[in-house]
Amino acid sequence: MNLAHLLQRQARMAPEQPAIFLGTHKVATHGQWAKRCQHLAAQFQAAGLQPGDRVALFMRNHVRYLEVMFAAWWAGLAVVPINAKLHLREAQWIIDNAQARWAFVTADITSETGDSLQSLEQVIDVDSAQADALWHGAEGAADTPIHERASDDLAWLFYTSGTTGRPKGVMITHRNLMTMGLAYFSDVDGLAPRDTIAYAAPMSHGAGIYAIPHLMAGARHMVPPSGGFDPAELFALGQQIGPLSMFAAPTIVKRLVDHAEAAGLTTNTCGQSFKTVVYGGAPMYAADIQRALRVMGPRFVQIYGQGESPMVGTALSRQHLQDTAHPRYAERLASVGVAQTPVRIRVTDAQGQDLPLGEVGEVLIQGDSVMAGYWRNPEATAHAIQNGWLFTGDMGCLDADGFLTLKDRSKDLIISGGSNIYPREIEEVLLHAPGVAEVAVVGAPDPEWGEVVVAFVVPQAGHTLDTHALDALCLQEIARFKRPKRYEVVSSLPKNNYGKVLKTVLRQQLG
Ligand code: AMP
Repeated sequence: MNLAHLLQRQARMAPEQPAIFLGTHKVATHGQWAKRCQHLAAQFQAAGLQPGDRVALFMRNHVRYLEVMFAAWWAGLAVVPINAKLHLREAQWIIDNAQARWAFVTADITSETGDSLQSLEQVIDVDSAQADALWHGAEGAADTPIHERASDDLAWLFYTSGTTGRPKGVMITHRNLMTMGLAYFSDVDGLAPRDTIAYAAPMSHGAGIYAIPHLMAGARHMVPPSGGFDPAELFALGQQIGPLSMFAAPTIVKRLVDHAEAAGLTTNTCGQSFKTVVYGGAPMYAADIQRALRVMGPRFVQIYGQGESPMVGTALSRQHLQDTAHPRYAERLASVGVAQTPVRIRVTDAQGQDLPLGEVGEVLIQGDSVMAGYWRNPEATAHAIQNGWLFTGDMGCLDADGFLTLKDRSKDLIISGGSNIYPREIEEVLLHAPGVAEVAVVGAPDPEWGEVVVAFVVPQAGHTLDTHALDALCLQEIARFKRPKRYEVVSSLPKNNYGKVLKTVLRQQLG
């Protein structure tokens, strides 16, 4: 099975159906999209690219992202997505590690340093005349058949954002992405041809592969002209072309809600702009999702996954988020939901033994969404996948209804005086304090306790924080031994390109 068959199927069934948009401007129907992919695939083959070869995409969000991605699959190649915010040297490292032969780039990110990418046979700026020539004549191209691929062949070589050490290439197969696409329908949302996915988050990550379920349903794909996340633009585009679906990290959800609130939008008006906002990738605090539901209405679904099982782990559905009368609603809201249909989830101790319900251990995932392994790294693969189970490195616990609550990454766990402390619990409390905008809790080395709890707190604009009041709030809400021994009031938190707080950097600051 080759993912390109999904495009061919839509092109046959609904060739005239609008498929790709730049804002409100239609760029391609399904028929045109498929023709362009066939044409590009023919040129990959003519240039000697062989099935299984890698093509890197070092591009900001762009309508041609979708065309290159499916053209590569059409020719039997694998795509290497590279986050547009990476430094050129980091991108070069990935290109070398993946031994990519061609790269498609957007000039704005490659020309910044004046250097250029090396060791590639072709570097094509998708906005250049060279690209136009490649695309040119695509509509009339002769039929290039889709190159047959086995389901377990490589489709997407995704480099983990890795906040420490070198990134690893996660081998995602056609089967993995097909499973992810179908799980969208079973666990996230229904879709119809009139629906539109907006690419506001980086297409090099989960947001980009959400093209697959939308293509399965013959829905529309829209890249905002800004190429990224601009709340005012997205609200306006949704009004113009119909309610949008999109993936957003929790920080982005927060900004969307801030915008809706500041503009005084009603939940109904929000519904004209957004159908579904799928959030995940980092913890969503209970207070934040409650506010989002209050301001924007029931348009949210949470997912938990990781590069190694992309977008497929658990889901907290729209229904669960709305079921406020449920006796365990508060617990569910703080959870990441239940295992998505194609996977099983377990929580185990360090020896891989199942833990009783409620006990915190490592989260394991098994199913057809789990990667084939790390690229040319059998040691790391053997460590991550044991007896068919993916060891996620996330810590969590299951309840009797199957809801998984994440505590933290195993490396974020603080052990103070022999007691385990999960930073998330403290963060949830401190976020309730008036005047607090953001919080990150980490452990600092301590000669007496092993580690002590330190809270980095960002005040809301115009607020001065009283750390005694924060301490009093902690005493009221959580066990004494968990409360921070120290507060660091800072103006912002270090974050990676996907908006995740870099706790490693915070820990380094503490020595
Ligand atoms: P990545 O491989 O870059 O997608 O990062 C995956 C990691 O992000 C997971 O292993 C979790 O630690 C975290 N993560 C993903 N989804 C969620 C979620 N819904 N809530 C909390 N953390 C999450």
